[in-house]
Amino acid sequence: MESSILQQDDRFAAAREKMVTQQIISRGVTDEPTLQAMRKVPRHLFVPKEYESEAYDDNPLPIGYGQTISQPYIVAYMTEVAKPDHSKTALEIGTGSGYQAAVLAETVKSVYSIEIVPELASESAERLKKLGYKNITVKHDDGYKGWKEFSPFDIILVTAAADQIPQPLIDQLADNGRLVIPVGPPMAVQELILLVKKNGKIEKSRLTFVRFVPFKRL
Ligand code: SAH
Repeated sequence: MESSILQQDDRFAAAREKMVTQQIISRGVTDEPTLQAMRKVPRHLFVPKEYESEAYDDNPLPIGYGQTISQPYIVAYMTEVAKPDHSKTALEIGTGSGYQAAVLAETVKSVYSIEIVPELASESAERLKKLGYKNITVKHDDGYKGWKEFSPFDIILVTAAADQIPQPLIDQLADNGRLVIPVGPPMAVQELILLVKKNGKIEKSRLTFVRFVPFKRL
């Protein structure tokens, strides 16, 4: 098992390096820990077998249940914007394949991730465990409520598009914490928003345009 995962990893190492150079560095991501994480995490193990050969392409891919794994550049960009470091605790809403959670886990102390589709929550928890990630905790729930027990969070990444920023997530953001969320209508172009909490006050900035699957409610 171990050795076959490593052999596959070898097989895709060149594709992964090319992805980092041609899709991520070329578009302006410079944070070295983020780039290292993108070089390391075996994205082909997070997509369905039939998409394995496309795993390092410059686009999102279907992961079943009508959901997608985000485009590699967007994963890297959101990670960089979050300013990760090994002292930080992160919350992700929308585990999906677990790929963004794995990239984050390479760069922060611990990751809590919530997924609303029960099958995706259990599949990704299993996958992350197999890959040896001990600092990621996944649960099935509606991420709207956040995860109070482990709050406050230095980083909150939302990977599904909401029409509004859920208030519980703002409340669970630590001081100097950073919340990155796509805001806008489902199935259309949304805006990626960054909220930074400073002395209890929220500073909002608009980053770029994106297209994410909709934020659902249980
Ligand atoms: N971060 C994922 C991308 C997943 S796509 C990855 O790296 O693969 C967005 C995910 O958000 C989907 O799996 C969808 O089911 C989930 N989602 C949508 N609304 C949600 C909610 N309210 N709470 C938790 N997860 C949600």
